[in-house]
Amino acid sequence: MSRTALRICPLCEATCGLTLTIDDGRVTGARGDRDDVFSKGFVCPKGAAFGAVDSDPDRLRTPLVRVDGELREATWAEAFDAVAAGIRPVVERHGPHAVGIVLGNPNVHTMAGALYPPVLIAGLGTRSLFTASTVDQMPKHVSSGLLFGDANAIPVPDLDRTDHLLLIGANPLESNGSLCTAPDFPGRLKALRARGGTLTVIDPRRTRTARLADRHLAVRPGTDALLLAAVAHVLFDEGLIDPGERASHLTGLDDLAAALRDLTPEAVAPACDVDAATLRTLARELAAAPTAAVYGRIGSCTVPHGTLASWLVDVLNILTGNLDRPGGALFPQAATDRAPRPAGPGRGFALGRWHSRVSRHPEAKGELPLSALAEEIDTPTDEGEPIRALVAVAANPVLSAPDGDRLDKALGSLDFMVSVDPYLNETSRHADVVLPPPPPAQSPHHDFAFNTLAVRNQVRYTRPAVPLEPGRMAETEILARLILAATGMHGADPAAVDTMVIDQTLSKAVREPHSPVHGRDPKELAALLTGADGPERRLDMMLRLGPYGDGFGADPDGLTLEELLAHPHGIDLGPLRPRLPQPLKTRSGKVELLPEPIAADLPRLRAALDERPAGLVLVGRRHLRSNNSWMHNVPALTGGSNRCTLHLHPEDAERLGVRDGEPVRIKGAGGEVTAPAEVTDAVRPGVVSLPHGWGHDRPGTRTRHAAADPGANVNQLLDGSLLDPLSGNAVLNGVPVEVAPLSAAAGETFGALT
Ligand code: SF4
Repeated sequence: MSRTALRICPLCEATCGLTLTIDDGRVTGARGDRDDVFSKGFVCPKGAAFGAVDSDPDRLRTPLVRVDGELREATWAEAFDAVAAGIRPVVERHGPHAVGIVLGNPNVHTMAGALYPPVLIAGLGTRSLFTASTVDQMPKHVSSGLLFGDANAIPVPDLDRTDHLLLIGANPLESNGSLCTAPDFPGRLKALRARGGTLTVIDPRRTRTARLADRHLAVRPGTDALLLAAVAHVLFDEGLIDPGERASHLTGLDDLAAALRDLTPEAVAPACDVDAATLRTLARELAAAPTAAVYGRIGSCTVPHGTLASWLVDVLNILTGNLDRPGGALFPQAATDRAPRPAGPGRGFALGRWHSRVSRHPEAKGELPLSALAEEIDTPTDEGEPIRALVAVAANPVLSAPDGDRLDKALGSLDFMVSVDPYLNETSRHADVVLPPPPPAQSPHHDFAFNTLAVRNQVRYTRPAVPLEPGRMAETEILARLILAATGMHGADPAAVDTMVIDQTLSKAVREPHSPVHGRDPKELAALLTGADGPERRLDMMLRLGPYGDGFGADPDGLTLEELLAHPHGIDLGPLRPRLPQPLKTRSGKVELLPEPIAADLPRLRAALDERPAGLVLVGRRHLRSNNSWMHNVPALTGGSNRCTLHLHPEDAERLGVRDGEPVRIKGAGGEVTAPAEVTDAVRPGVVSLPHGWGHDRPGTRTRHAAADPGANVNQLLDGSLLDPLSGNAVLNGVPVEVAPLSAAAGETFGALT
């Protein structure tokens, strides 16, 4: 029997509402939900392939447990017995930090990934936490932490109202947006142009987004912070600073001006390959626009000065009066945010509260760099214990972290490893236990993280579109049972995890003077919660305590889960609104324009004025039909332009003797890979580009389509030593590489060809 069901798409950050067609319990089609309050019918090729993603025959259906060296199908009870037996002895013998946790990107795309990992981390008490953030956006968290006192207070560009948008290192026509949740990002950019607005794109590649722009500047990779600093310099130099109504919320303006005084357009132009006059024009246009927003993304984060570049993005918005005003960059207010506390000084943001054991990298936001995971496992030191057991949740760091070969070996040396993963992939093949979550259609969905980054305040929730298949376990229950097994409570009722979180949260809320439930009885509040299960009760609690919530009766018109369920296409909560100074949690209670760690890093930026690699440098590339490595196992999402090829400019191809389509060797500090050359002037001379998430050629995996066309692992070109020191983020762009035709004569060296 055919029917339809609504489901928020989990395949990228845009969070589009989908209408799924379901035949005999199977998703056979997906189209945009025209009534969705946020996405209004938009769907991209990934979302349209939801059914193929959901029914991939390589998805694991039962847990796997290693017996006599081989992974074999097992019952859930056997699997959790093995988890408890594997992790607890490590904790008891070597302490909690000997258990590492790795969280992959898909955690932010599931309810379970938002609700349970924090409980696992706190329950284990480990400081060995690694996530995809440190190969992606950690610089933005750190710059927000330093500027605003809250690492998660990230202003987003007001796409629908701005007059002038400057994008740096972002390609939303292919990524559909990141740290800026906006269904139909392409349509919103076209609407900006149609209403007479201006779009400038700064990117070493002439991306699809760049082709849409009024102006494209092909900056030299890795010099984004220099470029942005020069634009800020011009604003000061030409008296264009106008923070507007926000001036009273700022501190450090004079210090900032002094710090940027020598970073003139003329000084940075040779390093950036953007002429000084153009840099001055950028500044003047930003200042003159009625409203403007600067937005930086992965290309400006995954570079040696990623935190400085991320900081300067917000500095430009602040200096031009565009922070926290309509048409500028504003702080979203999600329905599950905590109820706003009164404005005033906060606890501030601290970096380096602890350090990694081997290279002494400072923690950032409680995390250590993913680049350091291998050495934290394979390198003994006099102090502290190496990681001996690992919990990986939706993570494939053998492909997503630098130097996968080293990590591959390190994972093989662990005493114990458990992966929560739907696939037997390059990482989970090392696990002693694999716990497969159900396909997305069988899971509920709410975007806890992405609603805090959305260009419009709204809230949506979809229950599972199809029931759990027999033998499947909900991902929420898998993670709850994992928490119990890892923390010495193996066998307890998994509902106890949700009950504990609810008790703790409500007990805290009733003690907070600004809370709508101040002074009430937590047990009475818990009894009021609705929902079919623990995760829904937690969602209900967060909604009711949140900024739009009913406050457990304090505001009868406020939001509850029941109300949300009555609106299956979501509830629109209005455009982004100015919120300062409420979001600020700095010790001063103000936006701290020149925080000490930033000031201390500026000499390193000045030193970069003289750095200019003589040879080729590598940048990444995003495909519209890809996001995570596992998407390469879905035939509907591979082929066409989604291929692992090395883009290089015709001038470089000619100099190196490389012909279009022929295989080339690419060599970096971490190793060498081979990929077909794609000669194109879409990439600037001196720069080559390889997409990420490929390299599906290791034995012992079960991703048959991906293995048939494995591609090359771009991260194998990195040795893990290049990091942005403030955030621990891996440097993935602007990395020196050498390229040579595979057919080059045996004695011919890379050096001679580069
Ligand atoms: S843009 Fe993202 S959220 Fe929307 S349909 Fe495509 S993959 Fe899904």
